[in-house]
Amino acid sequence: MSSDTPSNNFLRGIIADDLATGRHAAIVTRFPPEPNGYLHIGHAKSISVNFGLAEEFGGTCHLRFDDTNPEKESQEYIESIQEDVRWLGYRWEGPVRYASSYFEQLYAWAEFLVEEGLAYVDDLSPDEARAYRGTLTEPGRNSPFRDRSRDENLDLMRRMRAGEFADGARVLRAKIDMAHPNMNMRDPILYRIRRAHHHQTGDAWPIYPTYDFAHGQEDAIEGITHSICTLEFEDHRPLYDWFIEHLPVESRPRQYEFGRLNTSYTITSKRKLKELVDKGIVEGWDDPRMPTIAGMRRRGFTPEAIRRFCDMVGTSRSDGVVDVAMLEHAIRDDLNQHAPRAMCVLRPLLVKLRNVPTEHFPLTAPAHPSREDLGDRTLTFSDRLYIDREDFREEANKKFKRLVLGKRVRLRNAYVIEAMAVEKDERGELVAVVADLVQGTLGEDPADGVKPKGVIHWVDAATAQPATLRLYDRLFTDPAPDRGGADFHGFLNPDSLTVIDGAMVEAGLATAQAEDRFQFEREGYFVADRFDHNGENLVFNQTIGLRDVWAAKAQSGGAG
Ligand code: ATP
Ligand code: MG
Repeated sequence: MSSDTPSNNFLRGIIADDLATGRHAAIVTRFPPEPNGYLHIGHAKSISVNFGLAEEFGGTCHLRFDDTNPEKESQEYIESIQEDVRWLGYRWEGPVRYASSYFEQLYAWAEFLVEEGLAYVDDLSPDEARAYRGTLTEPGRNSPFRDRSRDENLDLMRRMRAGEFADGARVLRAKIDMAHPNMNMRDPILYRIRRAHHHQTGDAWPIYPTYDFAHGQEDAIEGITHSICTLEFEDHRPLYDWFIEHLPVESRPRQYEFGRLNTSYTITSKRKLKELVDKGIVEGWDDPRMPTIAGMRRRGFTPEAIRRFCDMVGTSRSDGVVDVAMLEHAIRDDLNQHAPRAMCVLRPLLVKLRNVPTEHFPLTAPAHPSREDLGDRTLTFSDRLYIDREDFREEANKKFKRLVLGKRVRLRNAYVIEAMAVEKDERGELVAVVADLVQGTLGEDPADGVKPKGVIHWVDAATAQPATLRLYDRLFTDPAPDRGGADFHGFLNPDSLTVIDGAMVEAGLATAQAEDRFQFEREGYFVADRFDHNGENLVFNQTIGLRDVWAAKAQSGGAG
């Protein structure tokens, strides 16, 4: 796995040169989401590139909502996006900006193009316009409305703005070249008539600028030096440059494109993610199985791990799919270093100790095996413990290094016990294991020299707290659930969520706060749910297991 070296981001070199040659005294970047969904892991990459470069080179970064498509946008998305950027640890310069706050200026520039003879009002229907546009191999044809006089265009444009015409009846187009080899240059649309209520401007505008007409000019207004975007906008760059050349803008942003980040087993299209939400396949945009930033946060990811992952994958000029295991590795690595340890028994089985006083007494255990700064935690021990059902067998072969009837096991952070008998109900179901504490000091081997082979976790039944656990697995079973337009519904993992009620956690976790993260020893990394966890109802979401079970499955030829 590569680390974040200066060389794994080609934009660093460009910016360093621009500063060294004095082309810019300081850089200004921006992150320009459209508020039509929650941000996902791909956006995290764009955020880390834009904010990260500004941070690294002593520049600034703006947050600007590209809100030119009001029907699909909402205030909920605007708020979630701000929260996500802040949570990732970035701060934008100045106020939150909106493309819509430049609508007046953009309109003035549209009139400017009309006056210069560089834009015209077109009455072709969408179907006709498509036919006139030509194809990749054939040039387009000029619209019969292309040669309208300047005055007629100005009049029609103003009446479009005044709301005199029906939605879609006319458009404003740039007058560039209908035979241009780049389709984006074939008289692109600048304005459409759309009586849509806008979350920022209300009903002030019956016309809206296209993304292509708005985007570059917004960057120019804000003095953006490096307009960083993804590769699909490379073909739009000549058009953006054309606008900047022909309009009286005060600054000249330069656009640089990098490859989108995609991870395997993941969908990163807002439209498809919205479908998962709208169809109730997941419980919301912030469902811990979602690749959204809000989902990853709820899952227990740390901002540091996400930023580190974005750095590790690098920034290049080619699109690629990164193994999601790399993201999982980043969070596992981070939590291994930082998460305090705790014990949680998922499927409790009672153990009755015959030679232990009934009264519980305290034991001390380290909060973390190597982080002394995290201090100690207090456990309690008594004559009633819970261990996991899967950690006990009446009979087992040598491979089973947990508790077996007549054998010994070490209790993590505590003593060695030996299983003496089992208690069963009338149906023959196991209800308890009767065991003895084998004499010995805490953490040491029994005096008789018969060492236990394994270590299991446990909680003291006298003080343990019930908890709900949500175990998560990948949402999709296929590495490329929507490759080539495939229907992702067929690849949904039916086991992506398992809810365990009645797990038991060590007493200290009763005071865990929402979003506190832990390693439940031998089980995995968990986070107290941001919304559902409280002092009365302990709810922990599994962030990630201790090991990469998908890699193990793939190696043994199983599902992948
Ligand atoms: P989606 O395809 O998910 O709908 P989008 O590109 O339409 O995303 P925007 O809100 O326009 O979403 O994106 C804001 C910024 O994030 C843009 O600059 C875009 O290039 C960038 N971005 C979006 N997806 C990715 C990705 N997968 N990798 C890197 N950057 C991305
Ligand atoms: Mg977009």
